Amino acid sequence: MNNPIPYGRQNITEEDIQTVVETLKSDYLTQGPRIAEFEEAFANYVGSNYAVAVSNGTAALHLCAMALNVQEGDKVITTPITFAASANCVRYCGGEIVFLDINPETYLLDIKKVRELLEASPNGTYKGIIPVDFSGRAVDLEAFRKLADEYDLWIIEDSCHAPGGFFNDSKNQKQFCGNGNFADLAIYSFHPVKHIASGEGGMITTNDEKLYEKLLQLRTHGIVKDENKYKNTPAFASGLSDTQFSILDSQDYPEWYMEMQDLGYNYRLTDFQAALGTSQLKRADEGIEKRRALAAKYQEAFENKDFIKGQSGVIEGHAYHLYILEVENRLGLYNYLREHKIFAQIHYIPCHLMPYYRDLGWQEGDLPLAEQYYKNCISLPMFPTLNEAEQEFVIEKINSFYEDQ
Ligand SMILES: *Cc1c(COP(=O)(O)O)cnc(C)c1O
Repeated sequence: MNNPIPYGRQNITEEDIQTVVETLKSDYLTQGPRIAEFEEAFANYVGSNYAVAVSNGTAALHLCAMALNVQEGDKVITTPITFAASANCVRYCGGEIVFLDINPETYLLDIKKVRELLEASPNGTYKGIIPVDFSGRAVDLEAFRKLADEYDLWIIEDSCHAPGGFFNDSKNQKQFCGNGNFADLAIYSFHPVKHIASGEGGMITTNDEKLYEKLLQLRTHGIVKDENKYKNTPAFASGLSDTQFSILDSQDYPEWYMEMQDLGYNYRLTDFQAALGTSQLKRADEGIEKRRALAAKYQEAFENKDFIKGQSGVIEGHAYHLYILEVENRLGLYNYLREHKIFAQIHYIPCHLMPYYRDLGWQEGDLPLAEQYYKNCISLPMFPTLNEAEQEFVIEKINSFYEDQ
């Protein structure tokens, strides 16, 4: 029998292990020099000015919502075909999530639906949009930015599926996901099924210096350690009365002093996770090339098959976190593949029909295209170390399932 084939899997090399071991022997376990190194390398990779490493992708989303000041009752738009965290971050801050339907060709949030909603609502009803580069396909953020600016909305790009992905803008320039040219903030996850693994881990990228500084502060309890920004007096900080303090030569804040100025969290990444992330990042381009080759092979294998209703296809700039088929008898295929130890997955159960969101009033029929997509979708094994024989085995089993019917 064959080895089990999952839909996604990390690849840890000897070099990755060495880097982590070296970091464990260094002076730093939590935030140390490897964090800044990872942030710089990652910002470089996506083409943004700033990057902030955090403990996971969900924490990244939460900090973004906080940095953008999401408040009780604020309405934010996102897609139902995503991991729930894309929506939940707004709920953490007391905001309201408005799901809009997908474009059935791209599986991404349909900008036409967003425009229709904004046009039909009084100005100021919505605060922001969270488009998701679902499956690794880059959202056209130039178009989203233009729309968002008309209505004064912010954009958080959930780019968890698309480090290294890009779209071509109206001047035919490549615009990499998370490069900060259009979205206010973009977020990534380094969960093992994603392109770059650090165990748990996340990253926020931006070109906005103010947001960047806010994020650094919120990542560590809202603590500020910069005497130009302190709100309490140097006398108070020193533990002296104003008169005692005024006769001292030094008027400075003592070295130990710091201030908690906002309600932040501990969302730090550890130094050894950052070391693993940096090491993995070196192979990111290679990984995407491999994913694109796998996608091309799937596309060719299935393009003329009767049982196929749709598939991810070959799309320029696609980062192929997932390769999706829309098929007849999806449940049958899923179970048949499992019998052969091929662990395909379903991405995603529409968020708005999770019981939590149903309790908030969402129901079946609200977003018919997303619901239709869910009935047929299946994500095939897609990861750089999937070898030729394994991919052929997957293709052969899918074909034989439908031939035998
Ligand atoms: C994985 C993922 C997240 C959450 O990341 P974690 O690191 O698991 O918290 C958010 N959004 C999308 C689209 C994801 O795929």
